[in-house]
Amino acid sequence: MATTSKEFHVSSQTGQSDHFVQFYETDGFLIDSVSAFIGAGLRTGDAVIVLATKPHRESLEERLQGDGLEVAVARARGQYFSIDAAEALSGFMVDSSPEPGRFAEIVGSIIARAAQGGRHVRIFGEMVALLWAEENRAAALRLEELWSDLGKAYAFSLCCGYPMQGFGGEAYKEEFAEICQQHSRVLPAESYARLSSPDEHLRAITLLQQKAASLEAEIARRKRAEEALLHQVAIVESSDDAILSKDLEGIITSWNAAAARIYGYSAEEIVGRPVTLLFAPDRRDEFAQIMARIRRGERVDHFETLRVRKDGTRLTVSVTISPIKDSSGTIIGASAIARDMTERKELDKRKDEFISMASHELKTPLTSLKGFLGLLQRRLTTQADQQALHYLARMDAQVNRLTNLVNDLLDLSKIQTGQLDYQEERFELDALVQEALENVQGTTQTHHLLLEEQTGAEVFGDRDRIGQVLINLLNNAIKYSPRADRVLVRVAKDRNKALVCVQDFGIGIAKEHQHKLFERFYQVTNPGEKKTYPGLGIGLYISYQIVKRHGGRLWVESKKGEGATFRFTLPLFQEGKR
Ligand code: ADP
Repeated sequence: MATTSKEFHVSSQTGQSDHFVQFYETDGFLIDSVSAFIGAGLRTGDAVIVLATKPHRESLEERLQGDGLEVAVARARGQYFSIDAAEALSGFMVDSSPEPGRFAEIVGSIIARAAQGGRHVRIFGEMVALLWAEENRAAALRLEELWSDLGKAYAFSLCCGYPMQGFGGEAYKEEFAEICQQHSRVLPAESYARLSSPDEHLRAITLLQQKAASLEAEIARRKRAEEALLHQVAIVESSDDAILSKDLEGIITSWNAAAARIYGYSAEEIVGRPVTLLFAPDRRDEFAQIMARIRRGERVDHFETLRVRKDGTRLTVSVTISPIKDSSGTIIGASAIARDMTERKELDKRKDEFISMASHELKTPLTSLKGFLGLLQRRLTTQADQQALHYLARMDAQVNRLTNLVNDLLDLSKIQTGQLDYQEERFELDALVQEALENVQGTTQTHHLLLEEQTGAEVFGDRDRIGQVLINLLNNAIKYSPRADRVLVRVAKDRNKALVCVQDFGIGIAKEHQHKLFERFYQVTNPGEKKTYPGLGIGLYISYQIVKRHGGRLWVESKKGEGATFRFTLPLFQEGKR
C-alpha cells in the first residue's frame, strides 16, 4: 500500500539536504506516500513541516493518527508544523513572483524553529504545485530554485507533490523535464510506483516508450490535419460567397467574412442566433421546407430567394444548402453557401431593357427598307429585268430574316415585362397549319414539308401567335436537318385537345439538353461538330411561352442523331366557353 520506505533516504546523517518530487495521479496515492515519509520522520524524532492544501493536511493527519502517531502531541512539542500552502505563498509572492528575501525569511524561520535542538527536518510542500495549477509556471520553477538555495543553508528533506494531470499536453514537455531537473530524485506516480519487480518496471517503461512513440506520431498526424483545416478555414474566410453553418434547429454556428459583408452582421452578433433572422418575412416558411430536405440528407441546390440585411434592405441570393454529418454519419446541421445576386439581377434588368430598346430602334429602319423594297419590286416588274428582280427577291428574303430576328427580340422583351398581347379568336387549326407550311415551303429548296394528318379541329386563341410557333418549329426542323429532305407535320385530336406534331430527321437532341431548350438563349453545342447553326436561342422560349399562355404544352422527343419531334397541344374550342 504505502510506497516502499527505501525511497525516502533521509540525509539527516550526512547533514545534506534532499529535494525530491513525488508525482501522483490520485490523492489516495499521494497521502500513502507522504504519510510514509512524514510518519518515518516522526518515529525517528525528526521535525516535520507540512505546507499543503487544507484537504491534504487533514487527510494526512487522519492517516498518521490511523498509523498510531499522535499528531497533536507532536504539534504541542514543536515537532509537527502544519501550514496552509496558499497562505504561506501569499506571504512572499510579489507581482506574481516569489520574492527571494521574503521567502528565505518566512520559510527559513519556520525551518529554523523546527530544527531546534539539532533535529533533522522533513518537509512536504505543495506551494509550487499551487503555482503550477494557476498556470504561473515561471513562478513555480523559480520557487523550486529558491527551495534548492535554502537547502544550502539548512539541512532538510523536501518532498514536493505534483499532480500528474497538471502536465497533460505537448506544451508541458519541456517544463516537465525542467521540474524533474530541479529535484535530486523523481518519484513516479502510482501507475509505475506500485509495480514491484524489476521485470515489471522494465515492461512498464517499454510500454511507456511505445506509447510515447505512438503519441508523437499521433501528434504529428494531428498537426498535419490541423494545418489542412487551417488552410480550409482560410479558403472559407477569403471566399466571396457567404458561407455559414447552422444546427438542426437553425441556430447559426459559423459565419465567414463574406457573410458579414453581405448581410451586415458580424460573426459575434449572429453566431448563436436563428438563421431565420436573415429570411424576408414572406419567406419564413422556406425554413421548414429546407430543413425537412436537409434532415432527409438531401442538398438544396442554387435556390434563388430573398433575404434581409441587418439594415432591413432586401437582397436576392442564390443559396446551396448541404447537410453536415458527424463522424458516425448522423446529420447534425447544414452548411449554406449564399451568392449575392442583387448585382446580377440589376445587370439582367439592364440587359433586358437594352434588348427591348435596341429591337425597337432596329425595327423602324427595317420597316421602311421593306416598304421601299416592295415599291422597287413593283416598278421593276413592268421593265421585265429578270436579273434585277432576282436580286430584289434575295434582298427581300434577307430583310424578312432580319425582320423575324428583330421581332423575336421584341417579343422576348415583351414576354419579360408581361406586355406580349394576344388577340384571341376562334379559328381552324388545319388551315393555319396549311398556311404556315406553304409559307415556310417557299423559303426552302432542300426540304419537302408534308402534312400527313388533319382533323378539322377548331381552337380559340391568337392565330398569328400560334402561326409564329408553327413557323418557328418548321424553320428549326429544316435548319437542324441539313442532310434530310423532308419534314412531317400532323394535326390530331386528343380528347379535349388539339395536338400538332412537327417531325424532322436531323441531328436530334441528346437527353441532357432537352429540358433546357425552352429556356432563354439556350443553344445546344456539340463539341467536335464543325457545322454551326445560326440563331439566337430564343425561338423555342417564345414558342413555349405562347403555347403555355394558351393553356397548352410544348415538348420534344428526340435522340441524338435520330431526328426530333416537337409536339404542342391547344385546348379545343368549346361552344359556350370563353
Ligand atoms: P435557335 O435560334 O438557336 O434555333 P431555338 O430557341 O429555336 O433557338 O432553339 C434552341 C436550340 O434548340 C437550338 O439552338 C438547337 O440547339 C436546338 N433545337 C431546336 N430545334 C431543334 C431540332 N429540330 N433539332 C435539333 N435541335 C434543335
